[in-house]
Amino acid sequence: MAFGWIDEQAQARRRAGLVRILRPRPADSPLLDLASNDYLGLARHPEVTEGAVRAARTWGGGATGSRLVTGTTELHAELEHELAAHCGFEAALVFSSGYAANLAAVTALAPHGSLVVSDAGNHASLIDGCRLARGTTQVVAHADPDAVRKALATHDGPAVTVSDTVFSVDGDAAPLAGLAEACREHGAGLVVDDAHGLGVLGDGGRGAPHAAGLAGADDVVVTVTLSKSLGSQGGAVLGPARVIDHLVNAARTFIFDTGLAPAAAGAALAALILLRREPERAARAREVAAELHARLTALGLSAVRPDAAVVSVRAPSPEGAVRWAADCRAAGLSVGCFRPPSVPDGVSRLRLTARADLSGEQIERAVRVIGETRP
Ligand code: PMP
Repeated sequence: MAFGWIDEQAQARRRAGLVRILRPRPADSPLLDLASNDYLGLARHPEVTEGAVRAARTWGGGATGSRLVTGTTELHAELEHELAAHCGFEAALVFSSGYAANLAAVTALAPHGSLVVSDAGNHASLIDGCRLARGTTQVVAHADPDAVRKALATHDGPAVTVSDTVFSVDGDAAPLAGLAEACREHGAGLVVDDAHGLGVLGDGGRGAPHAAGLAGADDVVVTVTLSKSLGSQGGAVLGPARVIDHLVNAARTFIFDTGLAPAAAGAALAALILLRREPERAARAREVAAELHARLTALGLSAVRPDAAVVSVRAPSPEGAVRWAADCRAAGLSVGCFRPPSVPDGVSRLRLTARADLSGEQIERAVRVIGETRP
């Protein structure tokens, strides 16, 4: 039968208890959310939702076309200007998702004959960028500038290193200064995905590259998502104006994709303006992460020390992790659950989001539930 193999996979998923969960309407939900990527608690902030409504009223429900035809509005231009200014880069280009931004940056900067050096822990969208790029990819050990250095030394010609700034599974940070140094020794470019750093790391949430002293560097390109700390949807590439100009003409996910919906652009812009007015939100997210980590380890749980707002807690087995997350949910706490194959090292985890707007009481409740439901 056509597609018969799909049914076997579906059966295996059901056996493993992998089911999709519908998120309840926030107004009706008693669930405490430590699963979303809404790091600064802005997704439902009135200024952010109003930014979306105003943009939709002004510009319509959709962007109406590719960015190169009718899909670029004043709103997109303003968002690009604000993003670049906030993170300290010369220019920015907005995409319909962070995924599309990563595909754009990697494919446009890794031409035929080039080398792409990719961290083994990189996000799927960077991996897919490598798969689509014309250059050859070499995967290197996680967070290891010397491994990058060795890989670059094997190649003659254009080269680029790609890495997450904060890795999405464990929440650990990449050694950005060391990576930049290794790249510079070999005249290579550095592309970093700051999806989990923007809004959380750096002074006022200016991002991990800013914190590492790499903002505005002419050999560094940063990708971000608008869907985590900015509480909206979409992505962007930030970097030197000449790189951004090249992407406009070379990045297929810019040229052949409909522009970012005005409501998403309006929400992201409002969130960015809010973050600039209330920069302390970034530090608060980091404080909440540190507190969650300290309290969980005090209970004897194995949690990775967080570098940003992701707190990862090890589970004894994949089944144990699924049961743990389900028991948390039954006790009113929503947490993420990562298990093989989405964790390459085979270690299942609960993944918690340290939101800046969590109260002391909520942190305490979350830790109590996680402790009481441990497998
Ligand atoms: N990079 C990283 C590290 C991510 O975690 C994500 C989101 N899961 C993305 C890129 C993709 O961003 P978006 O959801 O905006 O497509």
